[in-house]
Amino acid sequence: MGYRWLSWSSARIGHRLTGSPQGEQAQAAADSLFRASGLPVVKRFPFTAQAWSRGTVQLTVGDGNGFLHVQAVALANTPLEASVEAPLIDAGNGLPTDLDSLGDRVKGAALLVNIGLVAASEGARNLHRSEKAKLAMDRGAAALIFVNQAEGHVLLTGTASIDGALIPVPAACIATEDGKTLRERLRAGQALTARLGMRNTSAVVTASNVIAELPGTKKPEEVIVIGGHLDSWDLATGATDNGLGSFSILDLARAMAAMPFKPERTIRFVLFMGEEQGLLGSRALVEAYRASGELNRVKCMINLDMSGHPQGFGVGGPDGWSELLKRSCASITAIDSAAFAGRVSEEVWLHSDHQPFLLAGVPVIYPLSDLGKHVYGCYHSSCDDIHLVDPQAMVDNVRFVGALAYLLAAEESLPAHFTEESLKQRLIGAGLEQPLRIGGDWPWP
Ligand SMILES: [Zn+2]
Repeated sequence: MGYRWLSWSSARIGHRLTGSPQGEQAQAAADSLFRASGLPVVKRFPFTAQAWSRGTVQLTVGDGNGFLHVQAVALANTPLEASVEAPLIDAGNGLPTDLDSLGDRVKGAALLVNIGLVAASEGARNLHRSEKAKLAMDRGAAALIFVNQAEGHVLLTGTASIDGALIPVPAACIATEDGKTLRERLRAGQALTARLGMRNTSAVVTASNVIAELPGTKKPEEVIVIGGHLDSWDLATGATDNGLGSFSILDLARAMAAMPFKPERTIRFVLFMGEEQGLLGSRALVEAYRASGELNRVKCMINLDMSGHPQGFGVGGPDGWSELLKRSCASITAIDSAAFAGRVSEEVWLHSDHQPFLLAGVPVIYPLSDLGKHVYGCYHSSCDDIHLVDPQAMVDNVRFVGALAYLLAAEESLPAHFTEESLKQRLIGAGLEQPLRIGGDWPWP
């Protein structure tokens, strides 16, 4: 059912950009699908946000003799109007070490920066594009030209801002092939000048997370959140990011509501909006839960972002959680082993809707997925469309996330939240202090 709903949405609604008419339609569709599936509680959690929309962008590169147009898309949360002419320099992967090696040349320059990690030294950890933008702007860069790593003239969008506020310098993305050509010319000693101009719009909009609930039969006051973002970027229909996760959640809610046996703890399905602009919907929800005390009732948060064919689960929680997940995976494998490896990983990552929950101390869980290069290459890109979606990937989401939800709901007692100290140590151990500090999200001084 999830796949059929997603196909319908892709064809009829299109993208699901927060604040756009399509975003509104997606919220309304999710709301009615929850209701039509018989979920006893369906509600909206409205929040206001500054929503950026793309206008026009032009990138030309000159060598003193003429200018060449380069195809580009603006990254989100870039200036409403900008026109910059600056010397083009190669900043490699845009990590602190890359910028250090350029020294003062960064100031006033247009930087070519890889989105991915290319030919990096061993052990180097990539940063999010918004973190790279912040580092470059702090050093005085005048413009940012990100080079996508997917082949085939694929363009990528995504936020260039760590906190959702508009950044002061223009930032755009170009295709890997164009990046290669420009770098070859720079390496050959040509002095290139980039002219990057853009016009965008931004307005305060109201968007809503769409929430549905199945009350627990034994411990209704204890809540397991199963969430994923419904919103998408606007270059394509966001069928994998995150149609895969959000429409699987709609289908899971339908299936669980239809089952004769009900979960013992409350299962709350949350479709977030504003994830792509900077986790806006999940940040707002966690803030509200914190203020009302509701957060204490949320035992864990399972996040489905680009999930498909889960092979196990990643978990970020204090003592007890990984053992619990291992036990749960073993139970799932015992009844349904053919398509499920039952792996458990303790790797913690950021930049999706579980992040605000994690930083508030709530244990987070995510399906371990490997969707293949053809899917990841289209992440945030002009090619993220329904043809990338394998219906079985969504069926497996429902099957294994559903099994886990029933098991967790039936546990005698669930392990606790992080304490402040255990969370801090965990984040430091996972190497997340630096990115969280750059993003202004590190909870401690
Ligand atoms: Zn996503």
